[in-house]
Amino acid sequence: MSETVNKYREFVKQIPENVRLVAVSKTKPPGDILRLYNEGHRVFGENKVQELVDKAGELPGDIEWHMVGHLQRNKVKYIAPFVSLIHAVDSMKLLRTLEKEGEKNERVLDCLLQVHIAEEDTKFGFSEDEIMETVKLDETRQFQFVKIRGLMGMATFTDNLEHVRQEFRKLKTIFEKIKTMPGLDRPDFNELSMGMSNDYEVAMDEGATLIRIGSLIFGERNYT
Ligand SMILES: *Cc1c(COP(=O)(O)O)cnc(C)c1O
Repeated sequence: MSETVNKYREFVKQIPENVRLVAVSKTKPPGDILRLYNEGHRVFGENKVQELVDKAGELPGDIEWHMVGHLQRNKVKYIAPFVSLIHAVDSMKLLRTLEKEGEKNERVLDCLLQVHIAEEDTKFGFSEDEIMETVKLDETRQFQFVKIRGLMGMATFTDNLEHVRQEFRKLKTIFEKIKTMPGLDRPDFNELSMGMSNDYEVAMDEGATLIRIGSLIFGERNYT
């Protein structure tokens, strides 16, 4: 049996039922994905549009493809026909593009809003103030082909897990604020995507519903 399958089997044992594993297969060949598919896994994540489109074209049609990376507006059209969840929506402009492409494809695009919780300023995302403004806008609330399913965040890349915990806790607090905001009817707002190979345990502790795991299952990548 392959190493990847072994790692996968070991890994899923520790995942509680209320948490879904997004197996992040970026840079890995379709064969690796098929091995997990044959184990019954269906949820895979990619961070580049071209790679996502290529793999989706080659692999079984019942895979749930998640776009986990930064998404450029001019590339939405390539994934709109089939993508299951877009994790890192970080601007009103991108939301508008999603609404337009959703309508063209006659399907509702599920997405998460990315919140900037880390210290590094290289990471994309809304600030807390911006996200509060964005979800309250009439325009946002009237989207018909975009469904905001929750939030996504990436913690600071550090060994200090206490620091990471504070950042995830902050994200969860923002999530709860939005979920319980008066007058904002969001029954489908229930996903919290946080946690990667190095910090998923903390993320699950702090309420993650989706964890995005690459290297721990597929092995180290040569490039990202
Ligand atoms: C690559 C990537 C992951 C997975 O990272 P690992 O550290 O390999 O688990 C998760 N989320 C995003 C957005 C990624 O780009």
